[in-house]
Amino acid sequence: MSGISRRGFVQRALGGLAGAALVGSCASVTPKAVSSPAPPDWTALRGQLDGTLSLPSSPDYATAKGIFNSRYNGSTPAAVVAAASVADVQKAMTFASTNRFGISVRSGGHSYIGASALDAALVLDLRRLPGGVDLDPGSNTVTVLPAATLDAVQTQLSRSGRLIPSGSCPTVGVAGLTLGGGLGSDARLRGLTCDALVSASLVLPSGDVVTASADDHPDLFWALRGGGGGNLGVVTSLTFRTFPTTDRDVVTLTFPMESAAAVIVGWQHWLSSAARDIWGMVNVTVGDGPGRCTVILATPPGTGSSVAGDMLSTAGLSASTNHVRTMNRIDFIQYFEGGDAARVPRAFVAGSDIIAEMTSAAADSIVSAMSAWPQSAGSATAVVESLSGAVDDVDPAASAFPWRRQAASIQWYTEAASDAASGWLTAAHQALGPSSVGGYINYPEAGDPLTRYLGPNMARFNTIRQKYDPTGLMRSGISG
Ligand SMILES: Cc1cc2nc3c(=O)[nH]c(=O)nc-3n(C[C@H](O)[C@H](O)[C@H](O)COP(=O)(O)OP(=O)(O)OC[C@H]3O[C@@H](n4cnc5c(N)ncnc54)[C@H](O)[C@@H]3O)c2cc1C
Repeated sequence: MSGISRRGFVQRALGGLAGAALVGSCASVTPKAVSSPAPPDWTALRGQLDGTLSLPSSPDYATAKGIFNSRYNGSTPAAVVAAASVADVQKAMTFASTNRFGISVRSGGHSYIGASALDAALVLDLRRLPGGVDLDPGSNTVTVLPAATLDAVQTQLSRSGRLIPSGSCPTVGVAGLTLGGGLGSDARLRGLTCDALVSASLVLPSGDVVTASADDHPDLFWALRGGGGGNLGVVTSLTFRTFPTTDRDVVTLTFPMESAAAVIVGWQHWLSSAARDIWGMVNVTVGDGPGRCTVILATPPGTGSSVAGDMLSTAGLSASTNHVRTMNRIDFIQYFEGGDAARVPRAFVAGSDIIAEMTSAAADSIVSAMSAWPQSAGSATAVVESLSGAVDDVDPAASAFPWRRQAASIQWYTEAASDAASGWLTAAHQALGPSSVGGYINYPEAGDPLTRYLGPNMARFNTIRQKYDPTGLMRSGISG
């Protein structure tokens, strides 16, 4: 695994590190090809902005369009607007609409498919919007900027003893994570990140600024919770309910590769009926040495050993190694962030499947997909995360995130060369066959239709998207 330590990978993978794919395709509704009446007046746009404009001829263009997955370093957006105000967002969207550019929004820049730096689009980079992480101690809600990183949000909240459920990668942006759902180590107790969303402000393709909540534009609020980023409009702030932090034990159990299928099935079934303050994931890694299967659990402080013992005896498993450590919230955040290496952009390919039921056949298929990895190509990992607990409390039709009654998400991830990676991903999906019912939209693959990620919620999402973005100004990199 090039450039990062095994521990770093596992830690980042925890909340769901994942992968990329190839060229970002154009969004959903493509505007009719009509030639512009006049060339875009970039000078006029630049003069109107509080922020900056980078064109392909600008010295900072490569930096301005750079995102986390360096497979997209060669992307060619028409321009990048680094918005310094909501008014900038409105002006850039009006300009894009007039000049028939699609809008590609960039918050944390961690899209697997390069959707925040799409070819020919006007990129709206939100990292310079003014604001911070504002916790209201009265309501215990927090309002954050879309490009606030998970590290900034969780670290600042932890100083007040609060958290929002989220993923673990330090540099992922809150907006992209939330709009696609948001899986992490608090999911079983607190749900997805989008489940904690109270309201979001956004600039619509019409230029209007609206707030979406359960009471205000409820259809938009429904679609923002799990329908995926790059649709509907540009989110300029998000407000979440927060929850108290606690210390936690982190348990790491390793198993011989021959036990991997039994571990996946046993872990899944045990966890589904375990207390909700117990969370866990399974990593299966192949290549660069012998295959390894690891279970990571997070449990209430002081319970790690007994919880691990319960899992092992219930599932009839025997671990090769068993390590338990108690951590305060800050240590917990940093442990799962994976250190400085996790912040460094890299080239990766990844994808996902949603497993309806974790049968022995499904687990065997996961292991068989991993066994098919071309060992000489480097390493690859499957990260299995349970969708049980609080994720399952929400009706699958109550938000755009559809996978509330399924067993688990699998993330396929590799930093190996793309040919080997792409072939492996295809084979992995085939190996799972009917055990898989779709994919997680925050772990998308280029070329996949949106319906693979939204499943039964696709039709409603499309109706809402058509209402708010009738001309297809917004680009998500996912077709359909
Ligand atoms: C290293 C790594 C670790 C990860 N860990 C986790 C994890 O633990 N759990 C998990 O669930 N996921 C995880 N992910 C996946 C992550 O949630 C998605 O990649 C997410 O979309 C990234 O959001 P972003 O803002 O950083 O990315 P961006 O690339 O900026 O945005 C992603 C998508 O959302 C759109 N978008 C961004 N901001 C806005 C906005 N303000 N308004 C409208 N659309 C917007 C973009 O146009 C793009 O389509 C991880 C990804 C990586 C690369």
